[in-house]
Amino acid sequence: MTPLVVVLSSPSGGGKSSIAKRLLAERRDCGYSVSATTRSPRPGEVDGGAYYFLTPEEFERRVVAGDFLEHAEYNGHRYGTLTTEVRRVTQGGQHVLLDVEVVGARLVRQRFPDAVLIFVIPPSGASLAARLRARGTEDEGVVAGRLSKALEELSAAVEYDYVVVNDELDEAVRTAHAILDAEARRTSRQRDVAILLDRLRAEVAAELARSNANR
Ligand code: 5GP
Repeated sequence: MTPLVVVLSSPSGGGKSSIAKRLLAERRDCGYSVSATTRSPRPGEVDGGAYYFLTPEEFERRVVAGDFLEHAEYNGHRYGTLTTEVRRVTQGGQHVLLDVEVVGARLVRQRFPDAVLIFVIPPSGASLAARLRARGTEDEGVVAGRLSKALEELSAAVEYDYVVVNDELDEAVRTAHAILDAEARRTSRQRDVAILLDRLRAEVAAELARSNANR
């Protein structure tokens, strides 16, 4: 199996993190690329779990060192995918999931034209607004900011290979499983397909010879 590079994006509140968590819990063939960020940890977030939390200076040092496969700015903070993280997961033989915003997704596509890009959308504007408000800590100014950012991000959705509506989480997770399963089976990704077909052709030819001999 050739490991897939899978990008999940969605507007804030769109549900990509819930889908990513479920895929990681339900599939042994998937691993997560832990990103680096300059934003502060939220309650419960530990370094090396959700993110590697770096100071702006350390982040910049790693940009200059060429450690990032892609990096972008979002809401005044920097976020980036470490090449070592992607390698760690794919060299372990697993598909790698990246949770990145739309600028980062474009950069991943440039580096890995074969990457599978999935954009998760909420079923309606009202449900997106409700999900953002349900997060409790957000004041209305923050909600408005996220909605405005969502509008901008939604215009990039057509660049993705798949758009998945996250109305019912179980259903969206099933769809994501189906996408990964189908993508992994593409002829172009199956390293052994030529050998397999050569062997099968030889076997069929032998059967044909036997059948002709028995006529
Ligand atoms: P949050 O701060 O809410 O965890 O994430 C904010 C945004 O940054 C989300 O859209 C998330 O997908 C994006 N993000 C997280 N990690 C990365 C990364 O490594 N690269 C890029 N480009 N975006 C990221």
